[in-house]
Parts: sequence; C-alpha cells; structure tokens
Amino acid sequence: MTSRPAAPRRPGLPAPGQPAFVALGSNVGDRRAHLEAALVALGATPGVRVAAVSAAYQNPPVGGPPQDDYWNAVAELVTTLSPEALAARLHAVEAAAGRVRTVPAAPRTLDLDLLSCGDEVCRTPALELPHPRATCRAFGLAPWADVAPDAVVPGTGATVLAHATRLRGREPAAFAALRRVALLRVAAPRGARPAVLPDAEALAAWRARGEGTVGLVPTMGALHEGHASLARRARAACDAVLATIFVNPLQFGPTEDLARYPRTFDADLDLLADVGADAVYAPTVDDLYPAGFSTHVDVDGPTAGFEGAARPGHFRGVATVVAKLFARTRPDRAFFGRKDAQQVAVVRRMHADLDLPGAVVVAPTVRDADGLALSSRNRYLTPDERARALAIPRALDAARARAAAGERRRDALVAAARAVLDGAADVATAYVEVVDPARFVPLAELGAAPALLVVAAKVGTTRLIDNEWLLAPGDDA
Ligand code: AMP
Repeated sequence: MTSRPAAPRRPGLPAPGQPAFVALGSNVGDRRAHLEAALVALGATPGVRVAAVSAAYQNPPVGGPPQDDYWNAVAELVTTLSPEALAARLHAVEAAAGRVRTVPAAPRTLDLDLLSCGDEVCRTPALELPHPRATCRAFGLAPWADVAPDAVVPGTGATVLAHATRLRGREPAAFAALRRVALLRVAAPRGARPAVLPDAEALAAWRARGEGTVGLVPTMGALHEGHASLARRARAACDAVLATIFVNPLQFGPTEDLARYPRTFDADLDLLADVGADAVYAPTVDDLYPAGFSTHVDVDGPTAGFEGAARPGHFRGVATVVAKLFARTRPDRAFFGRKDAQQVAVVRRMHADLDLPGAVVVAPTVRDADGLALSSRNRYLTPDERARALAIPRALDAARARAAAGERRRDALVAAARAVLDGAADVATAYVEVVDPARFVPLAELGAAPALLVVAAKVGTTRLIDNEWLLAPGDDA
C-alpha cells in the first residue's frame, strides 16, 4: 500500500519500497552542514533511498528560549523499513549529530520528524503517523509541497498541496516569513562514471545485459539539479538508471538556438556519477535519424496552443524523439519534469495513444534558492536579466496566494500574475493562462480538478517558461 497512486507495475517488477517523508530542521551551528550530513546518513541506511529533497527554507523559531532561525527541508525516501524501524533510525541520526533533548522548543543541531510512512495511520506512545503537526506548520508544508505536492497525507484524504494551500489561506504571514535559502546537496560518495553508450548498438548491448528495472531520464544535456532530481527519483524507483543526452535538432525552429545550445558533456557525466546513474545513451544525429529517416509523430490536442503555437514544429520534434527513445530503451519508468508542463501533456497523450512501454513519471520543478526554475537556458541570462527574471516565479506566487485566499476566477488569477510581470522592466510576457494540465486548454475558473498557471516571458533575448499548480496538484511523481 502506498500513500498515492502507485505507478503501474509490470508483472514481476519488484516493489522498490514505500514512500516516506521526513522533515529536517536545524538552528545551531552550520545548519546547511547538519541537514546535508543527515541526508547522507539517511541515504547510507540499508533499505532507504533518498528520492527527492526540497530546498532549505529559513524560518523564525516558534516558542522556546531566544535562538537562531531554523533551516527546514523535507526529504522523500523510498524505504523497505517498517515505520518503527525508520523512526528509530531517525533518532539515531539525530543523536549522532549531537542532539540532546532538553526543554521543549529548545535550539537543536538536528531535528528529524517522520511526517508519513506509506499509508500508515497510528497513534501509539512511541509513534504517531502521520506526524501530529504535519499539516499545521508552514515550515513543514511548504518544503513538502515542493517535493510531493500530490502525495496524499494518510488519514486526511487531501494532498500535501491542498493542505499547504488551506494553511496558507489561514496563515499567510507564516508562509510570508519563510525564505528559501539554499538547494541542499545529497552528496552520495561519487560513484563510477556512467557507461557512455554512443549508438544504438551499444545501447542494445547494455539493455541485453538485463539490468533489472530501468528508469529512463531523457535530457538535452547541460545538466543541472533539475535533471539530477529526475535521476535521483529514477535511482530510488528502479534497479538501473539510464540517462540520455541528445540535443534534438527536430525540436528547434530555424531561428532558435540549436547551434549555441549549451553542451557540457564532461560536467554532465560528473553530475550523473554523483546521482548514481548507470549509463548514458548519447547518440549522434545520424545514429538516431539515419539517412532516409522520414517518419514523425504528430500529437493533436495538447500541442495546439502556448508553446505549440509559439514554436511551430517543436512538439512534433519532441514527440518523435521521445517515441524513438522509448522504442530503443524500453524503460520500465521514464522521468519527465513538470517544468515543461505542456511537454508532459504531449508525452502522456502520445504514450497512451501509441501503447509505449513502461510508465511516465512526472517530477516537480526544482527551483533555485531565489525561486527561479532551473533551466539550461538560464545560463544565457546576464546577472541583471536573471534578477529581472525573478518576476516570473513572483507572478506565479501572487496568483497562488490569491487562489489560497479564495479567488476562483481565471481572469482575476491571471491579472494578479500579469500585474507582477508588467511591473518588471524588460520582461516581455508571451502568455499567462490557467489551463487544464492534460488537455492544455484554458479554464474559466478553478474547480475540483487540478489547474496549472502557465507563463512564458522573454527576458532580454531568452524565452523562459514556468508554471505552478493552483490549489490542488495533478498526478505528479
Ligand atoms: P531538457 O534537457 O531541458 O530537455 O530537460 C530534460 C528533462 O528535465 C525534461 O523532462 C525537463 O522537464 C526536466 N527539467 C528541466 N528543468 C527542470 C527543473 N527545473 N526541475 C525539474 N525538471 C526539470
């Protein structure tokens, strides 16, 4: 039993364990070091894999003697341990970090709270699950909603994002007091570099070795922590992680940045080694599209507007390459980022329509400490442009705050976001819309179904896209 819809499993696919969420806090000494050391200790625990880690949030202490601000984060684990065994392990890691329990709300080097473990609901003197304060603390819910907005909090029937939205409507000041301060590194000891598979033949030979279940992470390289988050989730859910690096000419328009798209292969291999990827398929254009290649995949429906309208042919190129990658790699699970929400809609549609193998898993967007969504294209921004680009996450946040406060009308939500974008110098908005995440059509108002606010804007010469769930999430990882 898991706390959210399980990914479809093929017969014989081993269960990797159940999801568990842990809140981490520290307000003594080097807070970042304490949190990162705890993540390493958790990842080194037999039966525990770290699937995802939120950014660290700085947060004023609640009650207790005068003390420093906290740094708080939430980690998603996949574990085969029982809730009791996992809780005992958390206590051991706290103790190893020098935590001494004194008065309530005293300062602490490390605080680890088990928020939930699978579907478990229990109230014993030794263990309460979900954690009794899991849904009433902004500093827990905000980072939790970063890593798993769609996870259902056991026993409540509501998702983490729904709880966060509700609390934010009631306690806006508590959310306003939170400040994202850093991305945390899950610094597993660097493994061997992944095997580089340069062509279809090498890929087929690797695949024929029978690596168990395979998690596919398709990328265009220039890897960053957003890509790493996908590989980490694949690592936690599958026996082997296969990344692909291919700058796909089919998805670039004639005036787009194909020639200057960043290529950082060596650094990419280091990042993939850090997250424990096993292999990377990095084909040439000729390997993927040999002479005479003339078949393309056109997905109707979710490609019609937005990026599809602004970039003719883009999704035809995306769908074609993704279909080929599914055919060549035959993944058990393939991981995509919510950052490219319309791409997700297109891939899901195609995956269902063409009966492609495995399951599509979608992971939340990773943001820099200041809120800017990570993107390979961010490296085109000058420092000044980067500062102005922050209008995009602020616009998303303004609309989310309005939704949390009860606003349901599309026009008002779009206006709230637009007001922020229009107030930023040299940010040219291409679109702001509230959409259905599967069909990618505008919604007139928020209802029970998930709704995404999507934004595209040009900052200098760089076109950036971003999005956020409003109220309740869709079915992400
Ligand atoms: P790209 O290399 O840009 O084609 O992206 C490869 C994959 O990484 C896609 O599934 C993207 O949606 C995903 N991705 C890119 N940026 C992020 C991010 N900031 N957070 C999560 N996933 C991302």
